[in-house]
Amino acid sequence: MKTIRLKAGKERSLLRRHPWVFDGAIDRGRADPGETVRVESAEGRFLAWGAYAPSSKIRVRVWSFDEAERIDAGFFERRLRTAAALRERLAIDSDGVRLVHGESDGLPGLIVDRYGETLVAQFGSSGVERHKAVIADALLRVTGLARLYERSDASVRQREGLPPVTGWLRGGGATECVIHENGWHLSLDVAEGHKTGYYLDQRDSRRDCAAWTRRFGFEEVLNCYSYTGGFTVAALSGGARHVTSIDSSAAALARARHNVALNGFDPARCTFVDADVNASLRAFLAEGRRFDAIVLDPPKLAPSAAHVERAARAYKDVNRLGFKLLNPGGVLFTYSCSGAVGVELFQKIVASAADEAGVDATILARHGGAPDHPTGLAFPEGEYLKGLVVWRRP
Ligand code: SAH
Repeated sequence: MKTIRLKAGKERSLLRRHPWVFDGAIDRGRADPGETVRVESAEGRFLAWGAYAPSSKIRVRVWSFDEAERIDAGFFERRLRTAAALRERLAIDSDGVRLVHGESDGLPGLIVDRYGETLVAQFGSSGVERHKAVIADALLRVTGLARLYERSDASVRQREGLPPVTGWLRGGGATECVIHENGWHLSLDVAEGHKTGYYLDQRDSRRDCAAWTRRFGFEEVLNCYSYTGGFTVAALSGGARHVTSIDSSAAALARARHNVALNGFDPARCTFVDADVNASLRAFLAEGRRFDAIVLDPPKLAPSAAHVERAARAYKDVNRLGFKLLNPGGVLFTYSCSGAVGVELFQKIVASAADEAGVDATILARHGGAPDHPTGLAFPEGEYLKGLVVWRRP
């Protein structure tokens, strides 16, 4: 067993159970990619078992803070069983569920989503990459399923020095799945879709969007960054008369159209716009169009803390346009999935957007990641999705 010795004073974050050791904290020791190492303080005191990543800034990701624990097949199966058992208790109204959410489920770098009978995994760290076969077998045992698709093509792999890999890891067949979420049928493709195929983290926001639409009797709804039309279907089911969906991906819009049909809604109630959101919103403003409810769910605009300032301007611009297009008495559902933009900063950005639009607005509700995307108490880096339901006062 190889040992990683930290510099004096660098043990503090591990003692608080934060799961990362940065390269600069290490005094000596090295290992192969993904190899299990013993991390100890400058005085030689045991701190954690972790996985070593020679080319990553996050040099060690912690498996366990318990010196008696062995990092073997049994360890992975126990962690997976705990993660799956939590989801069982959450009584999620969908068969599209995040089963494993990385560090916050004690499995750093591992994402596993379940879409009906299909599992999709992303191996995003050297540690889970090394134990891939053991994890894949344990996943099938724990879930009783037979199909596991690998989507290890996220940019995090690069930072770990790992090449992109996609394809069936266990089982095979068609990569299209239809999930049953909040009473809706939603199709997705685990090979072609974003992330592992779908944005499961927004499940509860979509459910609430349907509820607010019904409550307020919204007629004209605008869904910006619609992807495969999750919020579009939600608004239609909430009784919206017409929903306009904008996305710059033609493939996503084709699937959104398909999802509207899957749920039996009249296609005449929908318009799909294959374009840039900013440009479309400016055009709508010029045409004098207005909406009763607007969803703004942009992609991650701040990939890291260094991008926060530019991202803040981009969030403000699109939110300002959103407020201007909103009828008095209407509601803006606005989101940010940038971890580097915190809840407080996001609220400030939205407030100044309303101010610049000359709109008086009030927060009706706050949204966050659905509970199958938990956040480790000692791992604030895991918190990323935040949303505000904002009412434009009449
Ligand atoms: N709300 C969706 C998820 C949105 S993901 C859901 O609930 O499933 C963000 C989407 O923004 C992606 O589909 C991406 O294609 C789209 N996108 C990114 N940049 C864009 C731009 N400038 N204009 C329009 N769409 C954009």
